Amino acid sequence: MKRRDFVTTSALGATAALAAVSSFPTPALSQNKRVLRLVTTWPKGFPGLGTGAQRFADRVTNATNGRLTVKLFAAGELVPPFESFNAVMSGTADMYHGADYYWVGKSKAYAFFTGVPMGLMADEQDAWINNHGGQELWDELGSEFGIKHLPCGNTGVQMGGWFNKEINSIDDMKGLKMRIPGLGGEVLNRIGASAISLPGGEIFAALQSGTIDATEWVGPYNDLAFGFYKVAKYYYWPGFHEPSATLGVGINKKVWDSLPKDDQHTFTNAALAENNFMYSEFNARNTDALNTLVNKHNVQLRRMPNEVLNEIGRASGEVVGEVGDIGGTEGKIYRSFIDFRKKAMYWTKLSTTAFSEARNLPFPYAK
Ligand code: CA
Repeated sequence: MKRRDFVTTSALGATAALAAVSSFPTPALSQNKRVLRLVTTWPKGFPGLGTGAQRFADRVTNATNGRLTVKLFAAGELVPPFESFNAVMSGTADMYHGADYYWVGKSKAYAFFTGVPMGLMADEQDAWINNHGGQELWDELGSEFGIKHLPCGNTGVQMGGWFNKEINSIDDMKGLKMRIPGLGGEVLNRIGASAISLPGGEIFAALQSGTIDATEWVGPYNDLAFGFYKVAKYYYWPGFHEPSATLGVGINKKVWDSLPKDDQHTFTNAALAENNFMYSEFNARNTDALNTLVNKHNVQLRRMPNEVLNEIGRASGEVVGEVGDIGGTEGKIYRSFIDFRKKAMYWTKLSTTAFSEARNLPFPYAK
């Protein structure tokens, strides 16, 4: 823009001005440099999520040798975490990194692009987004808000969460105040609990003060970092509400459209690389973190009873189905997701699940 102003306001003719600019390569190159502001919903340097957003930023900056510099702002540094979407819509920021289910106030269909209760696991979610029409539908939804979406991280199956009492039956869930965002929160409301959504950085204080009785966050690696074991004793599995959580980058559509094709590819590749890398990071670190929680901090590990999971499953189907009932883009996204969920369940049963069961048979293996 500045270069164009210089050219049009110059006393020189246009051709002469361009020739003059190109004969001074250093200032011309510096004018081609661009700094893009990335806001995130994560506390500064938060393991996995915040560091993953930083890796994405660095991937773009390094791949373009600094011609495009992505500058990261942690939660609250430029805008409050839950204002990230609005900030990108309005152009206050160029892009965000976050979990798109934070934006269900914009469209409930955003939940599908993070994860929905009893929905898809990480590899299934990637299969849907990359190879079964998910990305196209995500872009169609984003076009309503002027945002281009890309997958950029995954936590894998999450934990059910931290509770200050044991959960032995569905009655134990009634009246429970739990931090749980997205459609998972609506499911909890359906079974008699009371859900609230809080950004990560505010959960510990709420749990400590008794404002909430329970919280979900991510899994052992992330939950250890927040220190929830200090204020809640029981740690439940599995994460019925988030069988995976795709993290996403949302880029202001005008900014995206202003990028040449090669830079768009750089962004896409950086996001897809981080999508895979972050998932592997969680998988690599969760077991050690879980051992620390159980052995060092005496956390009581519990499996959510099937009675509770069954009720949650029933309520999940209702809540997710109601998004489909909205029709329009939401209806299309629901139909695509549900069709793929059926296929994924069939293949996963014969592949991942069956192999995992086979590997757990009591044969000798390790020396
Ligand atoms: Ca979560």
